[in-house]
Amino acid sequence: MGTDNIFSGEMTEKQKAFREEYKSNIASWYSGWGHLLSIYVPGVAIIYFCLRQINAPTWFEIGVVLPILVIFNFNEWWIHKNAMHRPVKGMGGALMPVFHRHVHQHHQYFTSRRMTYDTNREWRIVLFPPYALLLFVLVTLPIAAIVGYVWSSNAGYIVMLSTPLYYLNYETFHLCCHVKENWFVRYCPLINTIRRHHAAHHSQPIMMERNMNLTYPITDWYMNTSDLERGLLGHLFNGYDTRYVKSEYQNDQGTELQHSTQN
Ligand SMILES: [Zn+2]
Ligand SMILES: [Zn+2]
Repeated sequence: MGTDNIFSGEMTEKQKAFREEYKSNIASWYSGWGHLLSIYVPGVAIIYFCLRQINAPTWFEIGVVLPILVIFNFNEWWIHKNAMHRPVKGMGGALMPVFHRHVHQHHQYFTSRRMTYDTNREWRIVLFPPYALLLFVLVTLPIAAIVGYVWSSNAGYIVMLSTPLYYLNYETFHLCCHVKENWFVRYCPLINTIRRHHAAHHSQPIMMERNMNLTYPITDWYMNTSDLERGLLGHLFNGYDTRYVKSEYQNDQGTELQHSTQN
């Protein structure tokens, strides 16, 4: 009862005005599905291409995805915390649009109370621009080539496919954080966890320092930047549970969620 509109609560006047302004500025030719496919089609194509090159991999070679998962999880946390939430003025200001887009747009558009969008044209403010995948793939290429050269071509291709795989995982999970409540996102393990985790991150008072992971809250747990007080497994499978929200954050997302679930 009363949980149908969880994460779709009241908007502030400022948020309403920002949304109208943002939507009116989306180019008429923009297509949400086009944007989504411009990320997923090349991503899946690279994964498919790499899989085709892998021949009888050993368990040791397959196992390389585990340390990669941890490294990527740390990268996601670090980039979100240090480039998306802080103005990095170096590198000719190349990262400033990332900061602006995230803090001044994404975080104005979605607040912990109103995390959801209404139409897929609003994917414009959820998904990264298509060149982000290209950039991540280009950074991975030399590393995959070195691994392929010094270890085995199987391991090199596994490293290579990990980047689009993790990136698509990120885009899918983040999109799931901003869709309206439904059976799948509520009950799918890991996705329900990141939905609450990210909604708490969208709470303005704590957004600069808490809940920086967008897929699995592993680094938030390890670096103690989570709003929860629980172990790693508890963090991963927390779902919508607000019982473990640290007392100092109860007034933020925790309280809102409890109100929503009691209604
Ligand atoms: Zn978000
Ligand atoms: Zn953020």
